Amino acid sequence: MSRSTSPGRWSRIIVHADMDAFYAAVEQLDRPELRGKPLLIGGTGPRSVVATASYEARPFGVGSAMPMGLALRKCPQAIVVPPRLARYAEVSDRIMSVFATFSPLVEALSLDEAFLDLTGAEGLFGPPEEMARRIKGAVREATGLTVSVGVAPNKYVAKVASDIRKPDGLCVVPPDGVRAFLDPLPVSRLWGVGKHGEERLQDMGLRTLADVAAADPAWLERRLGSMGPHVHALAQGIDPRPVVPDREAKSIGSEVTLDDDVVGRAAITPHLLREADRVGRRLRRAGLRAGGVRVKLKTTKFQLLTRQTALHPPTSSGDVLYREALRLLDAFDLGVPMRLVGLAAYDLADAAAPVQGELFGQEGRERQQRLDQAVDALRSRFGKAAVRRGSEIEDEGPERQPDRMRD
Ligand SMILES: [Mg+2]
Repeated sequence: MSRSTSPGRWSRIIVHADMDAFYAAVEQLDRPELRGKPLLIGGTGPRSVVATASYEARPFGVGSAMPMGLALRKCPQAIVVPPRLARYAEVSDRIMSVFATFSPLVEALSLDEAFLDLTGAEGLFGPPEEMARRIKGAVREATGLTVSVGVAPNKYVAKVASDIRKPDGLCVVPPDGVRAFLDPLPVSRLWGVGKHGEERLQDMGLRTLADVAAADPAWLERRLGSMGPHVHALAQGIDPRPVVPDREAKSIGSEVTLDDDVVGRAAITPHLLREADRVGRRLRRAGLRAGGVRVKLKTTKFQLLTRQTALHPPTSSGDVLYREALRLLDAFDLGVPMRLVGLAAYDLADAAAPVQGELFGQEGRERQQRLDQAVDALRSRFGKAAVRRGSEIEDEGPERQPDRMRD
C-alpha cells in the first residue's frame, strides 16, 4: 500500500468511494439467510441481465451486464434476487450523508459511488490514508456495508485506485507514484473507452497504459479521433476535471459505453429509460429540477451526436425525462450503430423555487411527483417488475458499467 509522505506535495486530494457489490450487499444485509451465498441480482425474463453478482458468485465467471441465462449456466446454484431499487436508494441516501460529513464537495456518480474533494482537509482528517480509513469506518458504521476507497491527486487515478483492491479496498496513490501505478495496467482500465475502444487500442499494438502514454499523440488522434488526446492524457495520469457537487452542477447526466453496439430505436430506448431513471433520482436527491433534457449518442466511429429540448415546466421526474428523450430520438439518424447512450438534465434550479408562468402546471407537477413516490414505494415492496412501463422491454440493467470496472 502506498504511503503518503509530506501532505504538502498533494496539489489536490481526490477520493473515489465505491460500495462493494452494492445491490447484492444490501440484500445480504437485509436477509441474513443470503449471506455467504452466490447471488445474482436481476430479473429472470428472456432479456434479463445481471445487475450485480455477489462476491460468492464471481469466481464462477459471472458479473454485471451478463445475460441472466448465461450467468445461471455458469453458476447454477446461484440465487436470483429481483432488485429493490427504492431500498437501494434509501441506503444510498445514508451513504451520501456520510460522505457529506467529510466534504461539501461530493459528486455522486450513481447510487453507490461518489467523488469527494478533500483538498486541504488533512488538518481535520489526517493524511490521505487516514482519510480513507475514516470514510470506510463511517460508512460501515452507518450501513453495515463495505466500501472500497481510492485516494489520488485526480479523479481518474482515484477511480482506478478504488477498484484495484476490491472488495473492502483501500489504495492511496501519491502524486509521485501515479505513473508507476498506472504504467503496468491494461488499456481496459482507461475511462470511457469500452470494449470496442479497447480492441482498437490493442489492434494498434497498445496493451498497457505505459504503451499509450509513450505513443505519439498526433498518431493517436489520427487513429482514434477525439478519443486520442483523451486516452493519452489519462494514461499519463493527467485529469484536471474538478469534483462538481450535484447542487452546483450545470447538468446531471448518466451515460453508458455499451459492450455491444446497438442499432435502431428499439435497441436504444431501454438504455435511455435506465439513464432517465438514474438522472431523475439524482435530481430528486439534490433537490433540483431540470429545465431541459439532452440525449447524447456516440457512433462506433466516435462521432458525438446530441439533441436537446427545453422542459416546461421543469421536472425531476424520470418518466418525463424519458418521454422527452424518446421524442428527441426522432431527430437522430438511428440507422448507424451506436457505442454510447447518454442522457443529461440541464438548466438546473432549486426544486422549491416557484416556476415562472406556471399557473395550471402546478397541479400536474404535484401529481407527477406523487406518481414518482408511489413508483418508488411499489418497487420497494415488490421489486422493479411490479412497476413496468408499457414500453419497457428489458429488466433493470447493470447498476453501472461506464468503463466496465468491477463494482
Ligand atoms: Mg459499486
